[in-house]
Amino acid sequence: MLVDYHMHLENGPKELSYVEKFLKTAKERGISEIGISEHCYRFHEAKHLLDNEWTAKRNVDSLKEYLDLLNEAKSRGWPIKIGIEIDYIPENEELIRDFVAKYEWDYVLGSVHWLGSFGFDLKENLAIWEKSNIEELWKQYFNTLLQAARSGIFDSLPHPDLIKIYGFYPQNDLSDFLNQIFEEIAKTGVALEASTAGWRKPIGEMYPSEFILGLIKKHNIPLTLASDAHFAEDVGKDFNKMIPLLHKAGFSEFVSFERRQKKLERLNK
Ligand SMILES: [Zn+2]
Ligand SMILES: [Zn+2]
Repeated sequence: MLVDYHMHLENGPKELSYVEKFLKTAKERGISEIGISEHCYRFHEAKHLLDNEWTAKRNVDSLKEYLDLLNEAKSRGWPIKIGIEIDYIPENEELIRDFVAKYEWDYVLGSVHWLGSFGFDLKENLAIWEKSNIEELWKQYFNTLLQAARSGIFDSLPHPDLIKIYGFYPQNDLSDFLNQIFEEIAKTGVALEASTAGWRKPIGEMYPSEFILGLIKKHNIPLTLASDAHFAEDVGKDFNKMIPLLHKAGFSEFVSFERRQKKLERLNK
């Protein structure tokens, strides 16, 4: 069994026929279950969790409609899990916790895309990168990721080295720092995500890097599998490239979720 637990419906109509397209691609790529994980900032009901100039323009959907649609798909026996991708904003931790508790999810993803007011993965913010202290940004990113893990709110943390997205690497070797971060994340029980999306981004490699994958393995952190598809044709994309890399790094299992209960699954060749 193979699953893809990270994808977005935002570019299409909120209709069963659209969900079906995602399932169709999954099936073609040998993936038997998909998890939909829409960006939380899109929902009116979650506006208070992250409200800035960029998200305000995109706060256009109804969470109720989203959940109704996915529950309808599930009730038809479609192999779908209900997830959400929430931006982890440290100051809003309690608001996020209350929001998550209000609804029924199969799993909840906690992402770091914002460091303060800096949406570091947005193309329009590339100029900010140019004049930033790269090492400080990297440390801030991974400290925030650890904080997200320690919050206990999330089941998995997506694209755990997203900070590399535009290829800005610190000059100093951060290996020891990173080792400590992942050692601490391991104590929280949260899963981390292996994602093929990095191959479709300027960095041109999967999330996380081979080095960080090694740390995840060393500290026995469970993995979820993801494409982060924003279009149906990207569901399960490059899984045939990612899975051999996971095997090479020593992984023989991944995790699935049902109503937030984690289950280990065999990662077949
Ligand atoms: Zn993300
Ligand atoms: Zn995503």
